Amino acid sequence: MFKKLLVANRGTIAIRIIRACHELGIPTVAVYSTADKDALHVRMADESVCIGPPAAEDSYLSIPSILSAALTYGADAVHPGYGFLSENGDFAEACHRSGLKFVGPRARHIRLMGDKPRARRIMKRAGVPVLPGSDGKGVTEVREALADAKRLGFPVLIKAAAGGGGKGMRIVRDARELERLFPLARAESEAAFSSRTMYLEKYLEHARHVEFQIVADNFRNAIHLGERDCSIQRRHQKVIEESPCPVLTPRLREKMGKAAVRAAEVVGYSNVGTVEFLLAPDGQFYFIEMNTRIQVEHGVTEMVTGIDLIKESIRLAGGEPLRIKQRQVSFEGSAMEFRIYAEDPDRHIPSPGLVSNHHPPGGLGVRVETALYDGYRVPVHYDPLVAKLIVHSESRELTMVRARAALREYLIDGIRTNIPLHLKILHDPDFQRGNFSTGFLKRYEPAPRESAEAPAAKAS
Ligand code: ADP
Repeated sequence: MFKKLLVANRGTIAIRIIRACHELGIPTVAVYSTADKDALHVRMADESVCIGPPAAEDSYLSIPSILSAALTYGADAVHPGYGFLSENGDFAEACHRSGLKFVGPRARHIRLMGDKPRARRIMKRAGVPVLPGSDGKGVTEVREALADAKRLGFPVLIKAAAGGGGKGMRIVRDARELERLFPLARAESEAAFSSRTMYLEKYLEHARHVEFQIVADNFRNAIHLGERDCSIQRRHQKVIEESPCPVLTPRLREKMGKAAVRAAEVVGYSNVGTVEFLLAPDGQFYFIEMNTRIQVEHGVTEMVTGIDLIKESIRLAGGEPLRIKQRQVSFEGSAMEFRIYAEDPDRHIPSPGLVSNHHPPGGLGVRVETALYDGYRVPVHYDPLVAKLIVHSESRELTMVRARAALREYLIDGIRTNIPLHLKILHDPDFQRGNFSTGFLKRYEPAPRESAEAPAAKAS
């Protein structure tokens, strides 16, 4: 196992990784920007090193700073968490060249899945269903997009080939809308990913987002750990996730699970990853992308399977084989995760500031992943996700009851959060019946404006 692991991240995921390392007996090095000098992950790690100023480009996204910290402090492994450099093939490769184990897949798998039109092509060839969309390498010009849209039929979704975090995505319902929105989407992609390449996909109405957790070793063994329904989304970004998906039959779970494992197997994927599908009302499902890292919502799968995915990712990166076979994976009860954002719940704008009082809920089946503490100042520079409440029980009904009690109990004074929205959702009869699709949250949104279509920047 590793001598020392550097955690190339901050916030809740940095703490989660440090906890896993504590259990594995691996000393940790935290990195931090000057804005995070009082952050909890810095205090919890065995050692810590400041890697630059607040701007992420100069600290958490700076490959030279992170590598030099790892080498100076004698780390032999780096865990990227999610967001920041976690899906950057150059970073994985640079770690490798510096003699550091990158806790994640190989650089070429990160690059392959990060090129979404290419991932679609590979999946299609492997017999994994994909939505009708742009063939080839994607499109950069409006006229090419128009030709694709006419072939596919409206509505279509414009997506960024290098996309992530919902950036560069626009739904278009006719040619005029495409002409207007394509340049905007492309500009967003250029700003976020330095890429003008876009692609189109048939827009699937009333779909659910159902994703499968994959775990694979370096010896071509891959299994799935069931699904997560992540249909409760705002601007294409997840707000609540749950497992199992309330509408999945055992047969469909088996079919989708097999397709997800095939997606990982065809490329020889290793470590943890997630295969995302859209599930149509008629039971058809379609690959949309594979995330080559740990997901924000991994805790939901941990609760129903009892498998610690962070420890697993570290063991697999260390070259250990998978310890279980597909038939040994069992699922117990129902789990839901509520993402708690520091934001004004009515206007959906970030609400950073001083947390004067932090009292997380507790009790059986209640898990809180957070970096908050009394007197902590939430910085303005990063993702506003400040806590994850994960609730588990024997049934979906009881999980919802438990979640309501936990959310009412959760006190975060000094900043505003979206806890009131979670409580509204839990009271919604359609949510309670499991009757929802990715458009569900529109009912709680103010009337859409063009500016409201611009997605927030964060990891999925
Ligand atoms: P990103 O990586 O930017 O988050 P994804 O491809 O994962 O983008 O899609 C994010 C969300 O957008 C999905 O969960 C779903 O709600 C919606 N979405 C993506 N593709 C489609 C599609 N073809 N039809 C309908 N909704 C889609």
